[in-house]
Amino acid sequence: MKSIHAKKALLPTGWADDVRILTEQGRMTAITPEQAPAREDWQADCVMPGLANAHSHAFQRGLAGRTEQRSPSGQDTFWTWRERMYELANAIDPERLRVIARQAYAEMLCAGYTSVAEFHYLHRSPGSDGVDTAMFKAIRKAAADAGIRLCYVPVLYERSGFGSDGPAPEQARFAPGVDAFMQHVDTVADGIDDDSKALLTIGIGAHSIRAVTAESLAVVAAWANANRRPMHIHIAEQQREVDQALAFYNRRPVRWLLEHCDVGENWCLVHATHMDADEVEAAAASGAVVCLCPSTEANLGDGLFALRDYLEHDGRIAIGSDSHISINPFEELRWLEYGQRLVTRTRNVATVRDAHSGRELYERALEGGAQALGVSPPGLVERAHADLVCLYGEDPMLAGHDDRTRLDALVFSGYRFPVERVMVGGRWVVKAGEHRRAGDTRGAFASAARALAGAARA
Ligand SMILES: [Zn+2]
Repeated sequence: MKSIHAKKALLPTGWADDVRILTEQGRMTAITPEQAPAREDWQADCVMPGLANAHSHAFQRGLAGRTEQRSPSGQDTFWTWRERMYELANAIDPERLRVIARQAYAEMLCAGYTSVAEFHYLHRSPGSDGVDTAMFKAIRKAAADAGIRLCYVPVLYERSGFGSDGPAPEQARFAPGVDAFMQHVDTVADGIDDDSKALLTIGIGAHSIRAVTAESLAVVAAWANANRRPMHIHIAEQQREVDQALAFYNRRPVRWLLEHCDVGENWCLVHATHMDADEVEAAAASGAVVCLCPSTEANLGDGLFALRDYLEHDGRIAIGSDSHISINPFEELRWLEYGQRLVTRTRNVATVRDAHSGRELYERALEGGAQALGVSPPGLVERAHADLVCLYGEDPMLAGHDDRTRLDALVFSGYRFPVERVMVGGRWVVKAGEHRRAGDTRGAFASAARALAGAARA
């Protein structure tokens, strides 16, 4: 058992004073405001729930900052970035995946994420001809060593585009075939213990409606809905995908998905950048979560999500760091709002439920992230996972702020995160702002990053 005394703690009802939090077997068992600290308590200034990172491709942490120079054609787009990403993907073996993912997960913990949905389609180890579990085991080990809560989302990838027969050569390691894929999902699901101390759960995913046939998508979605597990899919990230869906299915992507699948609360629509007004309304009404990844979407030139319209229809959102060009949930929320401000030339756009845009964005991401990972209930409540973040209350970023503006400060003036400690499943994984295994994690990552950079130059 562990006990924490917080001068300030963010409860579902708002910030509370002098809160004692007791944890046992990885969960919070009592949360009581207006208590004096007991001798055994860890004394914290400011405690808040950790956020879920609802969309991650951990291996892409090895690409951050490596695709920012103009190519000889001068025409750089998502699709030219994707060629560089495939070069990296095909240089990743299980050991490199483990050390790169461990670094990404350690960075997430230090930034305020305590759980992650790993959208994993790099299934085949180099040289293997079917789906093997070595790449999954590398992800699992990386998450366990970092101490982050992992929702493993194995993702089906079948073909290079609408109507094609199979993957392109550079996508061969993604595509085991739907039967082998479903066998992998069942094998992994059978091995997961539902013990509350375990930090591993499973969802399922389809890469996109362009990379998966309608028939196979139905198989994947049936598994998700029958097992009540999270179902994740990239959708409408790029205008080209919208144009191709219109040509192939005579429907826009989100419209087609909603007509062909039983999309409900266990679904996570990643990006959903390009929706018309009817799709926005229907996606919100479905109860699914839309996962927004503003730093990646900006980096790749995807476009801007119709945030205000979607929130006015009571749409649910989560955030993800996706390509890991940035690992900072507050930066994701900041840029979610800033994109809207730049386009509308107004301020405080994400204020449908609350007058404070930082607070509204944080609270929506907390709820939607928990939904996207199938973790309930969210926040600092009894019986929830003991996943929380302790901040230095005297940090200049928080100085002078009160209960109304503290979350606004974290979202908008958060050039760095004043983290003191992080707990996941009742265990401290960050102390004094440092990840518990920062030394070997960074060293192994640096070796892998140098080897990959050398291979890319060769
Ligand atoms: Zn993605």
